[in-house]
Amino acid sequence: MLRQVAEGVLIHESEFCQSNAVVVHGRAGVLLIDPGVHGDEIACLANDLSDSGQTVVAGFSTHPHWDHLLWHARLGAAPRYGTARCAATVRDRLSDARGKARIAALIPPDIAEQVPLDLLGLITGLPAETARIPWDGPQVRIIEHQAHAPGHAALLIEERGVLVAGDMLSDVLIPMLDLNDTADPIEDYLAALRLLEGAADDVDVLVPGHGSIGGADQVHARIDQDRAYVHALRDAGVPGDPRVGPRSARIGCPACMNGNYSTSPEEESATGRPDRDPLATQDDPAKFLTQDTVNGRPSLRPAATRRFEARLGGAVLSWGIRSERCHTSAR
Ligand SMILES: [Zn+2]
Repeated sequence: MLRQVAEGVLIHESEFCQSNAVVVHGRAGVLLIDPGVHGDEIACLANDLSDSGQTVVAGFSTHPHWDHLLWHARLGAAPRYGTARCAATVRDRLSDARGKARIAALIPPDIAEQVPLDLLGLITGLPAETARIPWDGPQVRIIEHQAHAPGHAALLIEERGVLVAGDMLSDVLIPMLDLNDTADPIEDYLAALRLLEGAADDVDVLVPGHGSIGGADQVHARIDQDRAYVHALRDAGVPGDPRVGPRSARIGCPACMNGNYSTSPEEESATGRPDRDPLATQDDPAKFLTQDTVNGRPSLRPAATRRFEARLGGAVLSWGIRSERCHTSAR
């Protein structure tokens, strides 16, 4: 069901990792940002829109991870945008059968059955430096950065004071660094937080890709919380973060990690040390968020694989995860 969070801005929350789809009312129809995950939820969203006489005139994917790239025929054939880098990344990852199979393997089977994968990731890249989404509605500013995924866009709906943050500033998921596509994931993350901070004073409503909607007071608080986490990671500290812990089980979302982490049974057994109690491993983030120093530059490398479970929105997710090992240098 759609819920209004600001004038002309509504969200549709998924049971999958508490994902938020965002609908923005324009003059001739709606802009749909990150449409959702489960087939029945996207169908519900399509029903809600048609019941209120609305059609989708534009789509937008905040970043090139599958849970933000799905679509459904009932949403129509409007152009679906992303940043140029987002679109290029999707094209690249879906360019051959092997890539498609790899993405398909990341999608839980019950979801893959429900949504047409041939509509996944059909994104038109907006030319680099495009400042706003081209559509007939409230101006939506694109804040592009390279944290979490290549060409990730946060969207600021300026007239409504709404920041659609994509997979940043969540109250349930820790910062998830992009370990595949960048030389310095920690600095990329910090740079993105600075960009979001630059827009924060214009924000009354914060919509994360996964998690709870925040008010104006939450914007700086979540930026500070994410920054503290990333600083702790960088400085070999133990992130004392309320989002990490055995009870909250909120270490991450398998979709948002998008293959940074192995789910391969072979690689799991290769570590030879499967964790007996997957939740217990989340007690101590320092066990897997460790840093060494090598060569003066930060880089992140996967280390041992662990088993995790997450409970979000009533669902229990279980997956194998490679721990992050951050190497920065001792000169
Ligand atoms: Zn996500």
